[in-house]
Amino acid sequence: MKEQIKTWLEEGMIDVFLGYKTVEGHPIPYCFTKDNVDELEELVESQFRYSLEKVASHIHGAHPEIKIGLLARDCNQRALNVLYVWNQLDPESIKTIKLTCCPSNLKEHADCSYLEQNAVGRQKFEIGIDNNAALATIETMAQADLFQKWMYEFSKCIKCYGCRNICPVCFCKECSLEHQELIGTGALPPEIPIFHLVRAVHMAGRCIDCGLCEDACPAGIPLRLLYRKVNEITQDLFGYTTGTDQNQSPFNILGDQVTLEPKPIHLDNEA
Ligand code: SF4
Ligand code: SF4
Ligand code: SF4
Repeated sequence: MKEQIKTWLEEGMIDVFLGYKTVEGHPIPYCFTKDNVDELEELVESQFRYSLEKVASHIHGAHPEIKIGLLARDCNQRALNVLYVWNQLDPESIKTIKLTCCPSNLKEHADCSYLEQNAVGRQKFEIGIDNNAALATIETMAQADLFQKWMYEFSKCIKCYGCRNICPVCFCKECSLEHQELIGTGALPPEIPIFHLVRAVHMAGRCIDCGLCEDACPAGIPLRLLYRKVNEITQDLFGYTTGTDQNQSPFNILGDQVTLEPKPIHLDNEA
């Protein structure tokens, strides 16, 4: 791998390679270039995850002429596909080195073992929602109970924006979560459930289920479950599976690729 990256850099196939390097004991995202190619010896490949594709989209936004290489696990590749679809990155500017670290599958979005290995401290809360629960399991609860549990989870939010900042597909220059007419300021938690539902709506058809937001959340809110739900609705309504194809259009619901067949969503009145 290191030899391949070195060749890409030296032959000008890429200008920068995004990977990880340990600095003072901490693995951090790192830019390798032909000027520091010797440092590739310090490239680390093991169990570190970061939204390198978000770094790539920032570089691309400022310097679209730069060709970027990066390490890409399945989740990175799904995020890249979304960024291509939303014109945040040009696939012609990106070269990836595939890393297989988990059994996740682009079509099935199966659970990522990385998250399960790092599930220390996540446990069932009597009054909250188990971060490791399956969506289908929590949906067997009565809606009134589930509503209360979500409200409890949201009440823990300290509005640190960690979930948004780490998210590879949160790329807006002006974020609704900082719009003062939508999200009030000066109080914690942020107005619930608005703060979380705004973000959840924005993740419909975008979230690639990498789980980085949940890893980053200091309050342990089961964000991944929330975004799985909105994507399940997107899948049911539009047949749209996020991150599977760099050529799918998020808006082509009336076009050839996707047939719009709305399905009724049944809500009981318990909540
Ligand atoms: S799981 Fe979280 S961080 Fe990952 S894409 Fe979805 S919202 Fe963004
Ligand atoms: S939370 Fe919504 S508005 Fe903010 S960056 Fe993410 S997608 Fe954009
Ligand atoms: S990372 Fe957690 S605590 Fe911070 S804003 Fe997001 S949900 Fe709230």
